[in-house]
Amino acid sequence: MYDLGDSVEMKKPHACQTNRWEIIRMGADIKIKCEHCGHIVMLTRRDFEKKLKKKLS
Ligand SMILES: [Zn+2]
Repeated sequence: MYDLGDSVEMKKPHACQTNRWEIIRMGADIKIKCEHCGHIVMLTRRDFEKKLKKKLS
């Protein structure tokens, strides 16, 4: 499982080459923030689960 504040790795890294995202919003939609450049991506929960690779620590 995953929760707000968790760091996750996605199947594709961000364009800045970082593959470490923090979950900053959980709801019907999920927002993740690139931990390197601060870029925010919003995904539906379904898309998020499809693109999630693993949870980090
Ligand atoms: Zn980035």
